[in-house]
Amino acid sequence: MNELVNLYGHTRDQLEALFRSQGQQAFRGRQLMKWIYHDGVTDFSKMTNLPANTRKWLSMNAHLDIPKVVSQEKSTDGTVKWAVQVNQDEFVETVLIPEKGRNTLCVSSQVGCSLDCSFCATGKQGFNGNLSSEEIIGQLLLANDYLRDGDERVTNVVFMGMGEPLLNFNSVLTAINIMMDDMAFGLSKRKITISTSGVVPAIEKLSLYTDCSLAISLHAPNDHLRDQLVPINRRYPIASLLEACRSYLGSLGPHRKLLFEYTLLGGVNDHLPYAKEFANLLRGLPCKINLIPFNSFDYSGYRNPSRQRVLDFQSVLIEQGYTAMIRSTRGDDISAACGQLAGKVRDRTKRSSRYRDSRPLSDNSLIQNLRLLG
Ligand code: SAH
Ligand code: SF4
Repeated sequence: MNELVNLYGHTRDQLEALFRSQGQQAFRGRQLMKWIYHDGVTDFSKMTNLPANTRKWLSMNAHLDIPKVVSQEKSTDGTVKWAVQVNQDEFVETVLIPEKGRNTLCVSSQVGCSLDCSFCATGKQGFNGNLSSEEIIGQLLLANDYLRDGDERVTNVVFMGMGEPLLNFNSVLTAINIMMDDMAFGLSKRKITISTSGVVPAIEKLSLYTDCSLAISLHAPNDHLRDQLVPINRRYPIASLLEACRSYLGSLGPHRKLLFEYTLLGGVNDHLPYAKEFANLLRGLPCKINLIPFNSFDYSGYRNPSRQRVLDFQSVLIEQGYTAMIRSTRGDDISAACGQLAGKVRDRTKRSSRYRDSRPLSDNSLIQNLRLLG
């Protein structure tokens, strides 16, 4: 290794390969992981069951650092939002949602997002880079640090922060591998959820790498409406998306379900006939539905649905035999709710003028991202 490597982003296989490449035994990788994640030791010299020369070599070539926390805000409902520094001078947000019996961490996977869904604050920011696997794992580590005093830890991870996780495939899947490893965080496949707006080629190859839970941001029951709200739908329409979902679900084995997310935008996609159409669309697909009342932000151009309409929309879905939950708005007072994670530390003026341009999806940025999928 020429420059210092952050080992937080390394899977067990990668650590073992690293030791082997140095002429050492592979099981050192396992030992190292245990020190890092189980014992919380970051000083290589204190890893006493590693040979002295290995510890010295690690100290000279590697480090263990989590992203710098720029701010921490706590909501009246207990939700905590951190802004962390990544890619040297960019910022992303991470949100911890403590609930009875579980602590859910909403992690970011990209700085901004290229997909520009019309109602999403992150999309308005544009795409400013991918997070590395260590930057994703770092978010989990800092949340666990916060929870340690209460003798708790993160129990669930959702990729519902900033960015489209499936357009940062390698880093996200590497991070998930570490999250699920018993030598690291030991989270089960059901406790990790990737939320995607529908990057079909990535969903198609997902089962080669993981069996974690999958949430699909559908938001509309037909292509005509979805094309306007979720521009990637123009490239991968609903039929191809659902086909990829069925195939992923098929790879998971029995009793697993998909989650469909539907952000309710007042007067746009919250008409009750859409609920019926949505129910018909998903017929036969094992799934749950999460209704997300729109979280407003400056210059969004959308309005919140009425409470009654949200309840009626839910009732139609329930009558049609679905489990449909309304996502409670958490951390609203600190702008930590879905779609509000726009990196407020950045220049807001630039972002809002960008929004007023209301530019359509940039095909180039999408193609560049898809190329990353290989
Ligand atoms: N890019 C991924 C994950 C991040 S967004 C995706 O799109 O799935 C997490 C969820 O919040 C998505 O379902 C997204 O559509 C939704 N969302 C985005 N902006 C929102 C807003 N302003 N109000 C409510 N939900 C929003
Ligand atoms: Fe990106 Fe998801 Fe926001 Fe769409 S909803 S712009 S995919 S972060």
